[in-house]
Amino acid sequence: MAIRVNPLLIDDLERYGAEDVQKCYHCGNCSAVCPHTDETFVFPRRSMRLLQMGLERKIEGSLEPWLCYYCGQCSTQCPRDAEPGETMMSLRRWLTSRYDFTGISRLFYRSPKAEVLAMVALGLVVGVGLVAWGLGNGGDIRVYDGERAFLKSHHVHVFDWGMAAVLVGLLGTNAARMWWFIMYRDKESRVPWWLYVKHVLLLPYHFFTQKRYAECGERKPWLLHLALMLSYVTMLVLIMFFLGHMQSDTWHWQAHLPGYLATLGLLGATAWMMRGRLKKITPLHRHSHESDWVFLVQLFVVAFTGILQHVLHRTGQPLAGNVVYVVHMMAAVPMLVLEVPFSKWAHLVYRPLAMYFAAMRREVLRAKVPAPLPAGARRVQAA
Ligand code: SF4
Ligand code: SF4
Repeated sequence: MAIRVNPLLIDDLERYGAEDVQKCYHCGNCSAVCPHTDETFVFPRRSMRLLQMGLERKIEGSLEPWLCYYCGQCSTQCPRDAEPGETMMSLRRWLTSRYDFTGISRLFYRSPKAEVLAMVALGLVVGVGLVAWGLGNGGDIRVYDGERAFLKSHHVHVFDWGMAAVLVGLLGTNAARMWWFIMYRDKESRVPWWLYVKHVLLLPYHFFTQKRYAECGERKPWLLHLALMLSYVTMLVLIMFFLGHMQSDTWHWQAHLPGYLATLGLLGATAWMMRGRLKKITPLHRHSHESDWVFLVQLFVVAFTGILQHVLHRTGQPLAGNVVYVVHMMAAVPMLVLEVPFSKWAHLVYRPLAMYFAAMRREVLRAKVPAPLPAGARRVQAA
């Protein structure tokens, strides 16, 4: 197959954050210090090379950007200030936009204004829609719970499940496209079907532990990342399956306790990440793309309004509770429908998938490479 080159690839990547790729002169220091590189996946130098050569198709099918956890050691050691760590981050953004068939991700990453406008527009539609729905269904804005509630929890529940279906559909399609680019499009990338079965448990394992992040060196960023991810998943499960308990006047410790802990986790981890980006404490935080801020601010607003409406409700202020609840939904719906499948949140799906694909690829390559011979021995070709 003819190899196609995109001479504008580096220019395109600049729109996603990477600005110094051309400075790289391939000394290899970055790959030497990277804690995640191995004999199968050598990065970030290889990715820098592919970018400089404009080999777009190869990058589309590469796993390396997802195996990088942005510890920043490569950027610290680079003698040319080529910022390989930031390049890997930009490649993840670029790949996210490639997996997305709608073009929304590409638009958001290349135009933060469009991203914010889309969030605000959808938020307004949700706000107006919820108020019209609440009043149109005999709801009273001064009532939070029960038959005359402004927003009845069973209606919200149906709405949440509708949103979840959209979210799963979009993420599933994007994940399928990732698989196609990496594991199927080129014949040599394909692996036997039984390897998919053999390694399938790696998906939940890496999703829930984020273990590879822990191997980056410092434990604190990993713990905060883990707290953020587990808090988010806990809230999602509570909202999807225990919304009635969460919103009732009665205390349900099974739902309320994990809900409070998850809110604390979301607020604490988000505040820490915002502080890190403002102070540029770690290499990870030295460069902030606009989408990083949209992600953090949105998450903070959702978590804060979520707990505030709950407190207002439980302290007997249903009118204020309902108003804040509408604001909460105005932030939460755009986050779930626009931010999660098309922006940084999608990493939650792509990272475990990448670990899964990488394990299969390693196994296939190990089987193809003959075992090393003892010193002095010669390999004899079979007749
Ligand atoms: S990115 Fe920097 S450290 Fe890595 S190969 Fe290029 S010049 Fe060397
Ligand atoms: S940022 Fe860290 S994990 Fe990523 S390529 Fe550089 S050294 Fe490796």
